[in-house]
Amino acid sequence: MYDVAIIGCGVIGASLAYTLSRYDLRVLVLERENDVAMGTTKANSAIVHAGYDPEPGTLMAKLNVQGSAMMEQLCADLSVEYKRIGSLVLGFSEEDRKTLGRIYENGVQNGVPGLEMLTGEQARGMEPALSADVIAALYAPSAAVIDPWGLCIAEAEVAVRNGAELRLRSEVTGLAEHGDFCTISTTTGTYEARYVVNCAGVDAETVYRMTEEPKFKTLPSRGAYYLLDKSSGDLVSHVVFQCPSAAGKGVLVAPTVHGNLIVGPNAEEVRSSTDRAVTAAALDAVATAAKKSVPGVDLRQSIRNFAGVRANTTLSDFYISPTSPRVLHAAGIKSPGLSAAPAIAEYAAEQLAAMGLALRPREGFDGTRRVHRFRRCTAEEKAALVRENPLYGRVICRCETITEGEIVDAIHSPIPPCSIDGIKRRAGAGMGRCQGGFCGPRVLEILARELGVPQKKILQDQDGTFLITGETKTGGAHA
Ligand SMILES: Cc1cc2nc3c(=O)[nH]c(=O)nc-3n(C[C@H](O)[C@H](O)[C@H](O)COP(=O)(O)OP(=O)(O)OC[C@H]3O[C@@H](n4cnc5c(N)ncnc54)[C@H](O)[C@@H]3O)c2cc1C
Repeated sequence: MYDVAIIGCGVIGASLAYTLSRYDLRVLVLERENDVAMGTTKANSAIVHAGYDPEPGTLMAKLNVQGSAMMEQLCADLSVEYKRIGSLVLGFSEEDRKTLGRIYENGVQNGVPGLEMLTGEQARGMEPALSADVIAALYAPSAAVIDPWGLCIAEAEVAVRNGAELRLRSEVTGLAEHGDFCTISTTTGTYEARYVVNCAGVDAETVYRMTEEPKFKTLPSRGAYYLLDKSSGDLVSHVVFQCPSAAGKGVLVAPTVHGNLIVGPNAEEVRSSTDRAVTAAALDAVATAAKKSVPGVDLRQSIRNFAGVRANTTLSDFYISPTSPRVLHAAGIKSPGLSAAPAIAEYAAEQLAAMGLALRPREGFDGTRRVHRFRRCTAEEKAALVRENPLYGRVICRCETITEGEIVDAIHSPIPPCSIDGIKRRAGAGMGRCQGGFCGPRVLEILARELGVPQKKILQDQDGTFLITGETKTGGAHA
């Protein structure tokens, strides 16, 4: 019998597992995919929002501002890439100026630190690439950029290291309450837990429906992006937003923690939580909007397009509430869910305590994680790493300078990846200009060698995405 079963291991499920692993509890995490961070957590703008957008008094406002304040230390503890670069929301008209005034007031009421209203000239002084049509801007120095899947993986790894059990490829298909415990049916077996937390992202309504009629309806909304080569990475140095609308926070142009430029997203209602198609129409809409803010953005520098699906619902706030003495839901976690994640986890843990879960500190809990990032090391540190393990001296991903040592570390981490994209999300190999065109086959060989499986079993990403039907020349030993 587990104390808590968490359904879904995106950034919300992982943050909760991380928070609960501080306590003396048996925690089970059930994820339907073959890795963690496979849902919305891997396809979003990667911004830690300052917290001026949500309506004052909402849970979203409170948890956004709290989460944003927690994020820098959390990322330092977990070796997750994070940069506090500040954000600008641009105004192009008198109507926009009013909107900026309204969100400034929201921000002040929400407790966002350091907000400032700027003239167009002041904004261009900070960001010379901005359009001459910008007449005003809201500056939020506390906004940041982050590695979103990196945060999810790190939190899940630390939770596992501290005793949480993660079951991948375990889709929850049924949930039943029996007085003081629940049974959870999955595609890999049935589990029992005293408390269940639904962190199933865009599919949280489906899980909710397993016990009763949900109090909201999900309205999945897809957003598409361009990711530009590092040669465009310093076109702007802040996150550049436009005024928010009912459809969302609008199209942004921002540097990423990895040194690229991200441009997007649009907002398009879709029927399915997994419809991540990128359409020409969506990319056109993103391109037109981005050029309004930063006319010089060169979309020919695009190295990848992708789309993510927002967990929008008929409610305007997050829905973090129990529906019975045993089941808690974290649903409708749309943007700023990533920014709020650490605070959502604390709030959910408080709710579980109020439902009767005893939170006694776990002896020997270690909430930190260290990973080697060869390219970020000084020359002396690099030399020491290569002396310690010559695999750090073999660069596999030339675009990003990722070594075999880092790839092998990722494969032997607490949640071993089974795919080339799993390595990309952990070590960064394949993130660069060639998008794995050169290093992909080498990563495949290393994965097969280290996992002791035939190369033809190695996946590109999700289950079924096999790459080869035989063995490559150097992989004969595994045939
Ligand atoms: C276009 C876009 C841009 C965004 N930009 C930002 C931003 O810049 N800043 C920000 O703060 N937020 C942003 N967000 C929101 C943020 O990405 C989400 O709030 C956050 O990632 C939600 O995490 P999650 O864990 O709830 O969902 P997910 O990451 O989707 O995780 C849910 C998990 O549950 C699993 N699951 C589902 N059903 C089952 C089942 N039956 N059994 C087992 N497992 C199941 C899924 O496989 C998945 O792994 C954006 C979202 C989108 C789409």
